[in-house]
Amino acid sequence: MENLIKPVQDETTTIKTFIKNLGVDLVGVTRLEPYKEMIMGINTDRDEFFQRYQNAIVLGCHLKDKPAIEMNLFMERAAFEVMTYLEDKGKNVLIIHPEDEYDPVKRLGLISLKALARGAGLGWQGRSLLIISPQIGPIYRCIGLLTDMELTPDESMPNHCGDCTQCIDKCPHHALKYVRFEDHPASREDVLDVRACRGDKGCNVCLAVCPWIKNLN
Ligand code: SF4
Ligand code: SF4
Repeated sequence: MENLIKPVQDETTTIKTFIKNLGVDLVGVTRLEPYKEMIMGINTDRDEFFQRYQNAIVLGCHLKDKPAIEMNLFMERAAFEVMTYLEDKGKNVLIIHPEDEYDPVKRLGLISLKALARGAGLGWQGRSLLIISPQIGPIYRCIGLLTDMELTPDESMPNHCGDCTQCIDKCPHHALKYVRFEDHPASREDVLDVRACRGDKGCNVCLAVCPWIKNLN
């Protein structure tokens, strides 16, 4: 039994080390099976899709003392490096980019990166809807890669927001609403007024006020 499991664990360790050596702060793995019924931003043949990709690798980074565009380019380059690594091994790969909007009205990507990040154990989903990592605080940027490479999944973690409501109280556009949830809210709209939020215009207040934020620059 041990011999059957070990190669998968070794491959997982190797790819995680490769990603960390690129300078990425966090990396985790989740199986895609639990997301089969999830709302997706595009109508697709789900059976075919989930046969083609069985795992997601999720990369996350801290907000560094660098322009956002530089951080975004850094994460894109890292994802392309990982894609090349996997393709060189003959694997199927699809990058899940945070700015891909397949449904621009509902602002939905192909598959929720935050759900993947939660599943991959990068952190819990805070009241700001950001993923909060105990190591680095709110994750500034996630990018995902779906693949058929066999990998060992990470474990998700419980919510540690406790009684804190800083992100809601300090949001300058009153875009966040207090909703009790443990793993994730029933819907994003229950918590976030997408039209009021200025996250796409560079607002980072909910990230900056989170007590879990760490200065890692
Ligand atoms: S990004 Fe800004 S506007 Fe959007 S929820 Fe956070 S603090 Fe509010
Ligand atoms: S600011 Fe507080 S409530 Fe908001 S995500 Fe961070 S810990 Fe959770």
